[in-house]
Amino acid sequence: MSADGYSGAYSVLERRRLEKRAIFFAKRDEIYSRLPRVSRLTDEITNLGAEYALAKLEKRTGDAQDIRKKMDTLDRERARILTENGYSRQDLEMQYFCDKCKDTGFVNGKVCDCLKEEIVKRRQRLLSAASPAPRARFEDFSLEFYPKQAKELPNGTFVVPYNHMKQIYEFCKNYAERFTPANKSLLMLGNAGLGKTHLACSIASVCMEKGYTVMYASSQSLFNKVEQARYSGEDLIGDILNCDLFILDDLGAENMTNYSLSVLYNIVNTRMITGKPCIYTTNIINQNMLTRKYGEKITSRLLGSCSRLFFVGDDVRILKNSR
Ligand SMILES: [Zn+2]
Repeated sequence: MSADGYSGAYSVLERRRLEKRAIFFAKRDEIYSRLPRVSRLTDEITNLGAEYALAKLEKRTGDAQDIRKKMDTLDRERARILTENGYSRQDLEMQYFCDKCKDTGFVNGKVCDCLKEEIVKRRQRLLSAASPAPRARFEDFSLEFYPKQAKELPNGTFVVPYNHMKQIYEFCKNYAERFTPANKSLLMLGNAGLGKTHLACSIASVCMEKGYTVMYASSQSLFNKVEQARYSGEDLIGDILNCDLFILDDLGAENMTNYSLSVLYNIVNTRMITGKPCIYTTNIINQNMLTRKYGEKITSRLLGSCSRLFFVGDDVRILKNSR
């Protein structure tokens, strides 16, 4: 968790606290000026409260009981006046967004769930702002466009695209449902229009719903940004190296400079070493072409650290549009 994600989330709680305080004081002032009797009753109850505490402390049980009775009577009168005038007792009590930590973010020195939730939410907002992932869900993935006739692959083997893609679909769904930041990386290979981005982003949606930090970038936009940020000192890569799941879409579509290549190497290598999963998609299905484009160091790490999924079929986008 970076300092920004934490202090950003904490300032949300601080704002909530100030808002609730402002609401509380405004309401209280309104009630006291409209109903002076309520103001006097509150003062009396407060004073009696102090007397009650003292009596308890000095073990004057009888006195304590008497004081308690007086307090209850006054409190009932106050509640009655409040209700008759359209208020409630809660209007005179400070309200909190989170009762557990009273909007302080901490319970007994531990980070409260409400603060944790804010940190996750904020983190996801930051990540998606860096590069919004196309919205995709498993439910919207349709297998009907994949042929049911066997097709020969470049390596000479035959598969039925429909059956094969059904397996890949199930694999991805399972991958997402059982996701942990220790999952293996995936390399999705196949021609354009076979649903790689759709399945990769469906995995992203499921993981984000579970509260994991997911970062998505299309290769082209990422390496454009990397070049732009090169001299500005902006830390684009920090989030990519640290998030729970990183998706690099359409590898091969970008123009690579030596600098971009070194950044890609850093991403692939660091995430491999730290055991954090990535999903790479690419239209380059030939290993020699991958090596020619990215060099031996990157290609061997990509192939070595990922489970490979070969997408087969006809261009689904063309089929969909021809209907
Ligand atoms: Zn809380």
